Amino acid sequence: MLLPNKKGRFGPYGGRYVAETLMPALQELEAVYQSVRRKPGFKKKLADILKHFVGRPTPLYFAPRLSEHLGGLKIYLKREDLCHTGAHKINNTLGQILLTQEMGKKRVIAETGAGQHGVATATAAARFGMDCEVYMGTEDMKRQELNVFRMRLLGAKVSGVDAGSKTLKDAISEALRDWTANVRDTHYILGSVLGPHPYPMMIRDFQSVIGQEARQQILRTEGRFPDVMIACVGGGSNAIGLFTPFLSESEIRMIGVEAGGLGIETGKHAARFASGTLGVLHGTMTTLLQDAYGQIQNTHSVSAGLDYAAVGPEHSYYRDKQRIEYTSVTDDEALSAFRLLAEMEGILPALESSHAVAYLIKLAPSLPKGQIVIVNLSGRGDKDVAQLSRMEQQNEPD
Ligand SMILES: *Cc1c(COP(=O)(O)O)cnc(C)c1O
Repeated sequence: MLLPNKKGRFGPYGGRYVAETLMPALQELEAVYQSVRRKPGFKKKLADILKHFVGRPTPLYFAPRLSEHLGGLKIYLKREDLCHTGAHKINNTLGQILLTQEMGKKRVIAETGAGQHGVATATAAARFGMDCEVYMGTEDMKRQELNVFRMRLLGAKVSGVDAGSKTLKDAISEALRDWTANVRDTHYILGSVLGPHPYPMMIRDFQSVIGQEARQQILRTEGRFPDVMIACVGGGSNAIGLFTPFLSESEIRMIGVEAGGLGIETGKHAARFASGTLGVLHGTMTTLLQDAYGQIQNTHSVSAGLDYAAVGPEHSYYRDKQRIEYTSVTDDEALSAFRLLAEMEGILPALESSHAVAYLIKLAPSLPKGQIVIVNLSGRGDKDVAQLSRMEQQNEPD
């Protein structure tokens, strides 16, 4: 199992569907990555920054009250919410910043939807003294004002994208355009296991630190592997990062949870595996939400981080292989899970991560007592409390 193959493919998925002008940049990136990834110097630099700046290893926390409440399971939360900047995204941006240094480049660009990846990139760029420009749809800039301000405080330039739906997919297109024009001194830091090869592979590798730690931690505390692992799937980087180091343990059930939005039947969701079809978006072939003419559909989710029309190509591969199960929960189910975790464990999960907790709640009655479950808590919910408060005010009867 060494995927992707030389062409960057996971079975039929992945690949490199980009303009000729970007090919040299992708080839350079792949060559540099392949040459430095195993070098002790690079590995040590990355391990040091993850330890001292991010705060790794993150705890694998046994959730006693939730375990009891859900019928005597042994529930462990992998606490990516405790990473510096509040989510797993920083694991990837720091890895890519170190690669940028190796390539001798001084400027990084990124796309962002909710602003989480933009903040993680601006943070890494500030730490390493690099110029940083973040593309963001103007609609998203309005919705996520505070993250725009955060990025600017970190010294990044935030450029509004006024095209199309003025959201994430338009921001990615604009970032790719910038990269094409400025490849010589600029590296494009993509935020999830998406885009053309080598991004899905490289970002998976950087996020696999989550699963490597969890593997050691669960063996130390329980002396055995978990029975079930659950993670939310936007592009799919936190999920593949947790799952990858466990994939060869065939008895472990792995479940990826997509955003069911207002319900699959309403069409207002981002559950690619529920109604998506094969297509190409932003340089990769994978499962997409598109119409009969190949136009990308508008997606919906209460959590901005899960609201994207494509899923990482490696996930499409494991769906076909039936190695990972994919399911979805609705906005309402995720919101209830947020409250339950807050009240039971004193942890405010990100709305994205709440999707994983929500599926755990649904699955729990069918699991035998004593089973070990690891849920990836991809981020913290502080970023979401203003949105929750607004939603609550709207719902109050007058
Ligand atoms: C961005 C984000 C996600 C979704 O991205 P993946 O690549 O699927 O992990 C999930 N959780 C949090 C907290 C995020 O910020």
